[in-house]
Amino acid sequence: MIPYSRQSISEQDIAAVVEVLRSDYLSQGETVPQFEAAVSRYCGSEYAIATSNATAALHAACLALGVGNNSIVWVAATSFVASANCARYCGATVNFIDTSPDNGLLCLQALEKKLQFAKENNCLPDVLVVVHLAGQSCDMKSISALCQPHRIAIIEDASHALGGSYEGRAVGACTYSDCAIFSFHPVKPITCGEGGMIVTNNVEMCKRARLLCNHGIVRNENDFVNRKEGAWYYEQQVLGFNFRLSDIQAALGLSQLQTLDQNRNMRDQQAKEYDRLFADTALKPATRASHAKSAWHLYPLVFPDNSLRNLAFENLRAKNYGVNIHYAPIPSQPYYRQLGFKPEDFPGSLAWGRRELSLPLHAFVTKAMQEEVFSLCTQMVDA
Ligand SMILES: *Cc1c(COP(=O)(O)O)cnc(C)c1O
Repeated sequence: MIPYSRQSISEQDIAAVVEVLRSDYLSQGETVPQFEAAVSRYCGSEYAIATSNATAALHAACLALGVGNNSIVWVAATSFVASANCARYCGATVNFIDTSPDNGLLCLQALEKKLQFAKENNCLPDVLVVVHLAGQSCDMKSISALCQPHRIAIIEDASHALGGSYEGRAVGACTYSDCAIFSFHPVKPITCGEGGMIVTNNVEMCKRARLLCNHGIVRNENDFVNRKEGAWYYEQQVLGFNFRLSDIQAALGLSQLQTLDQNRNMRDQQAKEYDRLFADTALKPATRASHAKSAWHLYPLVFPDNSLRNLAFENLRAKNYGVNIHYAPIPSQPYYRQLGFKPEDFPGSLAWGRRELSLPLHAFVTKAMQEEVFSLCTQMVDA
């Protein structure tokens, strides 16, 4: 199977992991802070907190922003379910914002309209989770301008977007948000096997997130509530979790970071080749804005209708191409329907989910494969 995305592991990556395996610390050693510093440096954020996965990072970020039972969290309707589940873990009320049928990114008009309604009805959200789908940054400046008057915190779910940029700055610089989250699952731009990271410029947010990811335990004497009783002494001050990344995983991530740009440039070339192939067809690549450079996690192709998309999906799968759909709207999931959501209320997201197909985009994809993918897609349209 040629998947839509997969990891590329170099001999250098393997050597880096083996080195940690031979060292004294497999967890809570030096490699995790090194990885945090390297990601921070790469994306231009002040702070970074490594986590066991991006779902844990989203959960900890919500808690660090004070999300609880009485909170309202809005989420872009086109994403992986974890973007919304994080708010539910905190007991918050979730609502969704429609996304563009042309690129799956948060629809500014829908956000503006919903904010107006919420203001009039006194139900403004506390937090907004935006998603940089496929690796393309949302229009953060405009989103921030709409949220700022209402003091709504912004989490960027940048699980797809490490290596992408917005207005010439790396995604993760958090210029227009409270924090951004990265995923290091094997399909994402770099991998730790499993892993995640919170990046932020807010020192308080960083402190709270770090505390929550380490059982709520503090070991620094200056932070103690009570008197230190001995060198062994520590305090659990809040109910936290074990959301730590191991040093084995961090070693892989740190090594992967060195080839991130090179791999993104390679996918950028593949994307250009798909662009060229599909240029004069009824199948359209996701629209792009000039303010963003994609990390090219995915190459989403938009079909004229649902049945043509489904035919192409079956056709490609039959030839061993592991194409996939990113995503059906979160409100269409049984869990969210049970909470009262109807996907019909998010027509842009619904249209995207019915017409989108993510084509193979990674180091193992050859030009010949791209041509075969093209003919398997277009064959259906011409039929
Ligand atoms: C992959 C992904 C997540 C979850 O990442 P994990 O590291 O697997 O927990 C969250 N949001 C989006 C948009 C994702 O693609």
